[in-house]
Amino acid sequence: MATAPTSKSPLVAGRLALDFANISSAGDLSWDEFVTFLIDARLVSQDRASRLRPFLTTEPRAVDAVLLRALRLRECLRAVFACIVDKEPFPSSWAEPVNEILRITEGHDELVFLEGTWSLQFVAREGGLEWLLAAIARSAAELLVEGPAVPIRRCANPACRLFFYDDSRTHRRRWCSMSTCGNRHKVASFLRRHSVRRRS
Ligand SMILES: [Zn+2]
Repeated sequence: MATAPTSKSPLVAGRLALDFANISSAGDLSWDEFVTFLIDARLVSQDRASRLRPFLTTEPRAVDAVLLRALRLRECLRAVFACIVDKEPFPSSWAEPVNEILRITEGHDELVFLEGTWSLQFVAREGGLEWLLAAIARSAAELLVEGPAVPIRRCANPACRLFFYDDSRTHRRRWCSMSTCGNRHKVASFLRRHSVRRRS
């Protein structure tokens, strides 16, 4: 049975921490972008999100604090993942923003049945807004403990460069998404071949 495309998450990386590293490539991170990410990643329900959005005006300090932490986490993850892709070492202090969040968020694992498979999901105890980052930090930690061979890659499209987890059978996945960068590449090389043939 085909699933409705509208229910599909726009996230392409296959691991929460990689999707988080990918959001809002240019600089800042707004509360709206962050909450939308939480919905897309299924970390909060639409209902929950609609209660979170007004915090921007009712709890501006708490929002600022969590966004600052989120930005710090995103920047550290981008740096660490880039080193892993390039097979370069990185100082262990770069993982500190992950530990900071793990330290302040208590929670437990819960079995979740989704799209025909069971998975273990971290459920944070709610207190403050930091719990919103708990599952992301946890996912980052799980990637790091996979070791240097963890199949983190970047999209081969130089204008894209999104991170993704390559769990394809051949371990040769090149694109963040076949439907965007993959197809664009196919069309471009088709046109290139076509125009070369026409010129010769
Ligand atoms: Zn891409």
